[in-house]
Amino acid sequence: MDNLKAVILDDDEFMLNAIQAMLESMGVHDIEADTSASRALHELDMHNPRQVLLCDLNMPNMDGVEVIRHLGQGGFKGSVVVLSGEDGRTLQTAVNIGRTLNLQFLGALSKPVDRQELQGLLEQIQSKSLTALATHSLLSEAELRNGLIGDALTPYFQPQVDARSGRLVGMEALARWRHPTDGMLGPGVFISVAEESDLIAKMTEQMLTRSMRQWRAWHEAGVDLDLSVNISMRALSHVGFPDWLVNEAQAAGVPLKHLVLEITESQPSLNAAVSSDVLARLCLKRIRLSIDDFGTAYSSMEKLQMLPFHELKIDKAFVHGASSNMLSHSILKSSVELGRNLGMRTVAEGVESQEDWDNAVKAGVDLIQGYFVAAPMQSEQVIGWLQQWKSRSLS
Ligand code: C2E
Ligand code: CA
Ligand code: CA
Repeated sequence: MDNLKAVILDDDEFMLNAIQAMLESMGVHDIEADTSASRALHELDMHNPRQVLLCDLNMPNMDGVEVIRHLGQGGFKGSVVVLSGEDGRTLQTAVNIGRTLNLQFLGALSKPVDRQELQGLLEQIQSKSLTALATHSLLSEAELRNGLIGDALTPYFQPQVDARSGRLVGMEALARWRHPTDGMLGPGVFISVAEESDLIAKMTEQMLTRSMRQWRAWHEAGVDLDLSVNISMRALSHVGFPDWLVNEAQAAGVPLKHLVLEITESQPSLNAAVSSDVLARLCLKRIRLSIDDFGTAYSSMEKLQMLPFHELKIDKAFVHGASSNMLSHSILKSSVELGRNLGMRTVAEGVESQEDWDNAVKAGVDLIQGYFVAAPMQSEQVIGWLQQWKSRSLS
């Protein structure tokens, strides 16, 4: 629990001391215990993900729900644990508000706090922050151009497993940027920059080439799987793309039937005619197409009718927490039905808990992807993860 900072907020001094002692015994040394909400808020650094706030819900001056709203509005990057002697409804309200404000909720602890439960929650932070990405402002076009000459662009991989058997089916390649001084950066700070310049084509090519090379290494190690790569609509405006891809796959030794292209559309496409032509030719070459982020703004029904998409990926907004959210749940269910009626395979992304998993399986999805299975990881970690996953599924 090194370098984890904990802030405890409770109006009960006795409770503060008890939790502080537990945290210390777990090796957390940077602890602030407060009975005042405004002081606790003051103590928190909104941008540091290695922080946890343990917050009582019912306090005299500012209640816990209000604190949570403050954190959400301020874009708090740390994690939150709710302490409750409260009835379930207040607790649910707090969790709902936090979710809609995009807070990292680890869970709720009922009082008196159980040491093991607390430890379990904190371990989640540990495993999440191992793969956490540095927060950073947008890369400049020049930085991007330079990095693409070298090997700044690195694919991470996240498993997709069969919803019934748990068997590994595929890996999705997700782009990461190795910054010379600031660590590993996520796609949020460079994909949009690449899309607005002509660099997206080059970036997509590198992702494909590098992840196909990795596929070959796994294949040689006896691990056979599908490889999914994200392709933005912008990258499909080059008529030469399908032929380039076929050649490159051949050179890397990847049979086309193992490739899945996840089509993401972050903006309505500029040259719809060219991209439809490119998509159609990819289909003719038997490369499978997947429609990404299904259910969100630009991934619409109309594209489904135009092309034989093989797979439909249901956005995490309708998967994570859907068991306690009627609207998400019904979107999840109807997306699965739609996919099935069109003969498509469905993937639920954003499965973060056993509850999400059970709910997705009940809705009938074919594949599962999410932190509950594994966070995106470096290629070298995949074999080790797979061994662990197999023993976990057997037990
Ligand atoms: P996406 O294709 O929808 O990818 C899934 C995102 O959800 C990934 O974020 C992944 O790390 C994250 N994720 C996985 N499991 C969970 C979970 O259980 N809970 C939650 N809350 N999130 C989860 P990431 O890697 O930051 O990528 C963000 C987006 O950037 C991707 O969304 C994709 O649209 C885009 N992207 C990533 N790599 C590429 C690329 O090579 N090319 C293009 N064009 N876009 C890319
Ligand atoms: Ca994707
Ligand atoms: Ca998605």
